[in-house]
Amino acid sequence: MTNYRPTFLPVLDQQERLHLVIRLFNQNRELHALLVDPYSLATSRAKFSTLKLRKSAASKNLPGYFSWKEIEDTPYMRLIRHCTSTPNLLQNDGIKHALGSVNGFFLTVDMCPSSNPFEKEFFHKLANLMPNSAPFEVGISMSGLWMLGHPQEFAWLCEQHSQGRLRITWINHTFRHLYFKDLPLEKNFMRFNPIMMDTLANSLFIEASLQDEELIAEQLLLEHGQLPSVFFRFPGLVSDKALIRCLGNLGLIPLGVDAWLAKGEIPQPGSIILVHGNGNEKPGITKMMAWLDKKDVRWLPLSYLAHDRKGFP
Ligand SMILES: [Zn+2]
Repeated sequence: MTNYRPTFLPVLDQQERLHLVIRLFNQNRELHALLVDPYSLATSRAKFSTLKLRKSAASKNLPGYFSWKEIEDTPYMRLIRHCTSTPNLLQNDGIKHALGSVNGFFLTVDMCPSSNPFEKEFFHKLANLMPNSAPFEVGISMSGLWMLGHPQEFAWLCEQHSQGRLRITWINHTFRHLYFKDLPLEKNFMRFNPIMMDTLANSLFIEASLQDEELIAEQLLLEHGQLPSVFFRFPGLVSDKALIRCLGNLGLIPLGVDAWLAKGEIPQPGSIILVHGNGNEKPGITKMMAWLDKKDVRWLPLSYLAHDRKGFP
């Protein structure tokens, strides 16, 4: 896989359904695309040559252009707009809760780089739950360095997905997940910069780092036969206005959290729940295991975050 790069291009698939190409790359001398269905938020990949670039014109004189209106009203663009238009926070920016009322919860499991083994008992429990005989819906925030450091555990997770025991939405958690224990939050994680710069140069440096981190992590997933999703979680949940905007331009949706179990936060319907599955935060896992024993709790795919009060889409 070479020349992996971001883009934004509306196209139609073979069934004439609207998709947005968000990445292009070359493989086996052919151009490939990573696509988003802007209604379901599902991603897919396709050979670029199979995509239609214009609508079938009703009359031969019409060029078949897309309108911006039909794209901007989709749940995908609505979520991106929601995340880039809210006031910026140093920590926990992005979407934290379903936009509308939903009957269920969103489980996200962060896999920051760690020298500990993963939470085996917890993941095995998830994979064996099979609610209503369906795979368990879970968002896993995967960092590139965790993947590279834990190849067998990562392969086990992929296997549960392909066997239909887990339905994993891979949340991008950057490649390095860089962190220094002696820096304040505003200079740490994705806001880190090794030298003094003025504000503009600093923003440009940080945005370039984000794009790099994000694209490398996506490529790693694709190279392991997995599909990156449109969701992203900032390391340490630390971001700023420039980072949030840059993420929107890359077509990604930042996920915050409103129920970090290890911090004692209590989930409400529609909550994004956070636990760490990398062996670094046992108290959250203990609480989550108890939640998994509860009957009548629905675990929802992250795409349901875009449902509005009328139940759209
Ligand atoms: Zn993390």
